[in-house]
Amino acid sequence: MASHTDLVKQPLPFNGTSGVYVGNGDSLHISHVGNSSIHLGTKSLSLNDILVVPQLKENLVSIAKLTKDNNCVFACFPWGYVIKDLATGVILLKGPVKDNLYPIPAHALSTSLRKFSCNNATFVAHTAKAAPCSTWHRRLGHPGSQILQQLVTDKLICTSDKFSSMMFCDACQARKSKHLPFHLSSRISTRVLELVHCDIWGPSPTVTTSGYRYYIIFVDDYSSIVGFIL
Ligand SMILES: [Zn+2]
Repeated sequence: MASHTDLVKQPLPFNGTSGVYVGNGDSLHISHVGNSSIHLGTKSLSLNDILVVPQLKENLVSIAKLTKDNNCVFACFPWGYVIKDLATGVILLKGPVKDNLYPIPAHALSTSLRKFSCNNATFVAHTAKAAPCSTWHRRLGHPGSQILQQLVTDKLICTSDKFSSMMFCDACQARKSKHLPFHLSSRISTRVLELVHCDIWGPSPTVTTSGYRYYIIFVDDYSSIVGFIL
């Protein structure tokens, strides 16, 4: 959507009865329809069926329409966005995030479209429906809870449930742990020292007053008596 006919090529008067509905329920009048493009060196992205709505204060791009008309993907990140060609995987355009908006750099636009910008709210409405935190965790390549929490705080993702830092993920347990958990044992000791468990830990970042950096623990399975050696 654009706010002025100067922003589109060969605008045609809009004769339909439709309007653009905004948050407070008002319907904004559509005066013209036209096309334009985003220039990317030797290639360009088509912007088809642009609605000219004079009451608009910002020019907005529909991510769904942009990706459908140009067979590309629009990926959002905490630092900005990337538009990639779906067929070749080639990056067509990279841009920043600014004030929760994804502005298209001026050099990518024709002179008449220098004010064109892509609104974060539009992107969220079209392509990022609310999903559980666990789904976002898997979609984004299994990031840690701190990163996911930051994305929720910055309203870059819409979650349908409350964020929990204790979220459990099978894949992360298997891939990020240094070893798998021990299996439950049904063995029962019948006398002292029949079975002794031990664990060694270190090197400690802090050296003891005696100069030791490792400790080892022995636990007798029958009596549960613990021995601790530095
Ligand atoms: Zn995971």
